[in-house]
Amino acid sequence: MPAGATSAGHRLVFLGPPGAGKGTQARDLALEWKVPQVSTGDMLREAVAKQTPLGRQAKATMDQGALVPDDVIVGLIAERLREGDAAGGFILDGFPRTLAQAEALERLLRDLGQPLTRVIFFDVSEPELLRRLTGRRVCRECGSTFHLTSAPPRRSGVCDKCGGRLYQRDDDSEATVRHRLEVYTRQTAPLLDYYQSRNLLSSVPGEGDVEAIRAAVRRVSEPAR
Ligand code: AMP
Repeated sequence: MPAGATSAGHRLVFLGPPGAGKGTQARDLALEWKVPQVSTGDMLREAVAKQTPLGRQAKATMDQGALVPDDVIVGLIAERLREGDAAGGFILDGFPRTLAQAEALERLLRDLGQPLTRVIFFDVSEPELLRRLTGRRVCRECGSTFHLTSAPPRRSGVCDKCGGRLYQRDDDSEATVRHRLEVYTRQTAPLLDYYQSRNLLSSVPGEGDVEAIRAAVRRVSEPAR
């Protein structure tokens, strides 16, 4: 099979609360399928690190665990999905997060003639989300994620993959995590009905073995025959 053949037509949204494992699965499956992982959180964090006008505007909102305005995010995505590497498919990770974003995405993809093929919901209980997020540590260099107790790095504070320094995201403190989960329930969870009514929604269990979760995502991502 030619390289990338299995990626043909994967235009996916990974949906779920913060800490559900969307980013980890999106990173690995994007490599496997040779499509870009489009993470609005990563794009915003990069803008903050580079102190661009967008980054300066978004930082306080992100630190509070609130959502950046829809028009800003939709503009960012519209630009990103028009880049050449998204023509063969993409995984959207952390977008859309509001009904207005979902509607804007639908219009954008209609214009591009590239409708979504599937929306995958990662189902994880709230206590588990709290545990994961507050213990999460991220590599400053390569973005790999670790967990203080369930996936600790070999050397404390150092990335196993690239030797970069690990840090705790400002928005992973317990108070901010609780707020992010509330924001998710209020603003993002309604998207489950939105995509269910369009026959696009599949759920996978987001707890348990990472490989098993990945296999479940692969299964539901296959185009219907
Ligand atoms: P994440 O890494 O996906 O948890 O995103 C981190 C933060 O970036 C969120 O708490 C929001 O402040 C902001 N953000 C990321 N994606 C979006 C989005 N689609 N809409 C609004 N804000 C977003």
